[in-house]
Amino acid sequence: MKTLVFVEHHGGELVKNSVAVLGKAASLGGEVHGVVVGSGVRELAPRAGAYGAAKVYVADDERVEAPLPQPRVDVLAKLVRDGGYDTVLFGQSVLAADVAAGLAARLDAGLNWDLADLVEEDGRLVGKRPALQDSVYVDVGWKSEPRLALFRSGAFDPQETGGEAEVEDVPLELEDFSTRATMVEQAHAESEGPALEDANVIVAGGRGLGEPDGFKLVEELAQALGGAVAATRAVVDAGWYPYATQVGQTGKTVSPKLYVAVGISGAIQHKVGMQSSGTIVAINKDANAPIFEFADLGVVGDLHAIVPKLTELVKQRRS
Ligand SMILES: Cc1cc2nc3c(=O)[nH]c(=O)nc-3n(C[C@H](O)[C@H](O)[C@H](O)COP(=O)(O)OP(=O)(O)OC[C@H]3O[C@@H](n4cnc5c(N)ncnc54)[C@H](O)[C@@H]3O)c2cc1C
Repeated sequence: MKTLVFVEHHGGELVKNSVAVLGKAASLGGEVHGVVVGSGVRELAPRAGAYGAAKVYVADDERVEAPLPQPRVDVLAKLVRDGGYDTVLFGQSVLAADVAAGLAARLDAGLNWDLADLVEEDGRLVGKRPALQDSVYVDVGWKSEPRLALFRSGAFDPQETGGEAEVEDVPLELEDFSTRATMVEQAHAESEGPALEDANVIVAGGRGLGEPDGFKLVEELAQALGGAVAATRAVVDAGWYPYATQVGQTGKTVSPKLYVAVGISGAIQHKVGMQSSGTIVAINKDANAPIFEFADLGVVGDLHAIVPKLTELVKQRRS
């Protein structure tokens, strides 16, 4: 097996999700290489070695500073063709999904997306794809090579093996059609604390908070725990909190070590986005709320009484 992994970076750091995919690839054996594309990214490349890449290709060029997919497809397509890679793996992100789709079209290759795992069975690679609202895993495969796969956020934990990667610069050869799109402006939602997908601790709020101001309780607890804030669709639809924080079937998939659900009923559509969290703690006044069926720890009571006390306790322990 010869595998190439698209290694993403953001704000001068390698993205957790993509280095976690490197680790998964390394655990399957064969040759595992990474590719980093961007401007001023060369120094990031050797770091990918710690996660399992034996070699990292770097396309470091001002022309690929903007996170646009087609120039990245150019880089990956050439590497796959010249290097004879049979497998190309991506960790889910908006950019990775676009690059994976573009590469599939360019190479006329099969892409399996939203995978939660990849295993070797009887000498063949088999992808595990959640289906029927995550209640079952479906086995998926490829009819031809290269096999392309896009994994869910949090499907794997990054494994630092401590190795060093050989770094190879690759010249940027762009197709004419790849340079037609330009980035006019990049807008960032202002947010504090860690990104949801990377957070080890998430405190999520739901309709039980009663009003938009109720999120202050959630924010204070998240801050005390050093975590990020998430929300259910019910509250983002109501305009209480930004859409970017929605966890669930039509929102983000997260897998922190600790997920604290505050005033959340635990609907299946929310559950599918957070069920792989390490420890799930639920605070809900209804002892029959579905969330208690899959929470590791449950507190039945009024969140307005419980959450401030919990925040205070966390602060005391930390100080
Ligand atoms: C196609 C589709 C896609 C969807 N995608 C998503 C998705 O991605 N993410 C998502 O979250 N939802 C999604 N939903 C919506 C989902 O079905 C639920 O409606 C939603 O998750 C409920 O949000 P909630 O738990 O905040 O609200 P509710 O279900 O209203 O639950 C509020 C909870 O707060 C508790 N509570 C109330 N007051 C207090 C108090 N004072 N103290 C303690 N507890 C209290 C209540 O007992 C209740 O259990 C989707 C629905 C559909 C149909």
